[in-house]
Amino acid sequence: HRPDATTPPPTEQEDTPPMTLRTERDVLAAVPDGCLIDGVWRPTATVFDVHDPATGEVLAQVADATPAEAAEALDAACRAQPGWAATPPRQRAELLRRAYDLLLARADDFALLITLEMGKPLAESQGEVRYAADFLLWFSEQAVRIGGEYRLAPDGGSRLVTTRQPVGPCLLITPWNFPLAMMTRKVGPALAAGCTALLKPAEETPLSCLLLAQVLIEAGLPPGVIGLLPTGKPAELVGPLLADARLRKLSFTGSTEVGRELAAASGKQLLRSSMELGGNAPFLVFEDADLDAAVAGALLAKLRNGGQSCVAANRFLVHETAAEEFVERLTEEMSAVRLARGTDPLARLGPVISEEQRDRIALLVSDAVDRGAKVHTGGAEPAGRGWFFPPTVLSGVPGDALMVQQEIFGPVAQVQRFTDEADAVRRANATGSGLVGYLYTRDIGRALRVADALECGMVGVNRGLVSNAAAPFGGVKDSGLGREGGFEGIDEYLSTKYLAVDLG
Ligand code: NAD
Repeated sequence: HRPDATTPPPTEQEDTPPMTLRTERDVLAAVPDGCLIDGVWRPTATVFDVHDPATGEVLAQVADATPAEAAEALDAACRAQPGWAATPPRQRAELLRRAYDLLLARADDFALLITLEMGKPLAESQGEVRYAADFLLWFSEQAVRIGGEYRLAPDGGSRLVTTRQPVGPCLLITPWNFPLAMMTRKVGPALAAGCTALLKPAEETPLSCLLLAQVLIEAGLPPGVIGLLPTGKPAELVGPLLADARLRKLSFTGSTEVGRELAAASGKQLLRSSMELGGNAPFLVFEDADLDAAVAGALLAKLRNGGQSCVAANRFLVHETAAEEFVERLTEEMSAVRLARGTDPLARLGPVISEEQRDRIALLVSDAVDRGAKVHTGGAEPAGRGWFFPPTVLSGVPGDALMVQQEIFGPVAQVQRFTDEADAVRRANATGSGLVGYLYTRDIGRALRVADALECGMVGVNRGLVSNAAAPFGGVKDSGLGREGGFEGIDEYLSTKYLAVDLG
């Protein structure tokens, strides 16, 4: 990469640059160069640019791995697989625990890298680093708890013994929105289970993943157990890997559109796959809700990660008697949010990831307005460089507006009204997605009834945040297949073997 892309190195004539600029350069310089194959960082023939979304400028240049390099990394993973699977679980656990400690020891570096490549405010990046580290800790604890069963067959004639074995070499593909946490959520359980893995970060945000791979090596991971393949042409690199019979598992987090394509390609090979895809979360506020808590939860569920999260609240559905006050209070809070580069200590909201994303959000807003929605705050992108979109609140968005059916993936809140519980549930479920739903009520019976009725994998009850390394994360319907985190997370990387034992 090119660490001097953001700021020229200080010369003797110049004043000392501000602290943050020096730190940015240092952190970028610490990112390993190349792709990782068999424990060695190797330069590639070409590189691709990574941009700072707050300025649009080139931040770094990163190795562009080719299908030939991916095949070599898979060769190495296959060679390493038997040894890694046979490594005692306690050793695998200790290695993950060391990686957890190393990651936290460098939390500031990781947070700054995430902010630089992805744009979110530093405080949020610090939160992502802790969340990401939690997966390494959690799965270091799970590595020693992989077990089986010993049972009597129903007819008493034999013993049924089950064991769990690692599925084998895995391909882990992650999106740009949580560049570090989405990768530890996959690589943690893969390594704990005894699988080798090829890591393919998003082309917008490969830097924190490159540093993560370095930390895993420093923690003592043997050569070949992980490979890292940054690329600017993901389809070209991933296609041949999926067609290679030696690959045993694909774990993908990203858009539903790409997920469908990769699931189809995996189907051809009967490759095991996990798909963590897009969401379109409803956020229900009933007439008996604690409105202070609901507004605070709404801000968190909408503005965390700039709204660029699969679990972001996409549709606020509020009982007709509470809607006006909810819109008023949400507008007051959203209009006070400070929009700035994520390194600015006062930034509460950073830029969105790209010009294309910003234009997409602007289009969704103008589509809703054309159909009669009212803008309470925000609505149009500010002038100046960088890819910023302001916090925006809309009401009166009709059901056929694009933002009702699609993930907004930006800091735009749309508020609709409902009349009763049945109407709320019907509207909440009226999309193809099924990742998460949020509900606010003081009635425990209603909370459980509605949670049961929501077609999704996770429900936030009087809470705007569901993510936790110890909980199973995942969805139903178009939101995907499989679970990450929790006790379930490691299952995705294990296959069950059953032994029929005749005692004679
Ligand atoms: P994306 O689908 O464009 O890209 C995701 C990853 O797939 C990237 O690494 C990209 O390089 C790769 N990719 C893209 N096209 C490919 C192809 N043809 N073949 C192989 N690989 C390909 O998604 P994105 O824009 O990076 O991320 C945003 C999406 O991710 C949103 O829809 C969001 O909801 C979803 N997401 C889901 C979860 C979840 O756990 N359910 C978590 C975070 C993000």
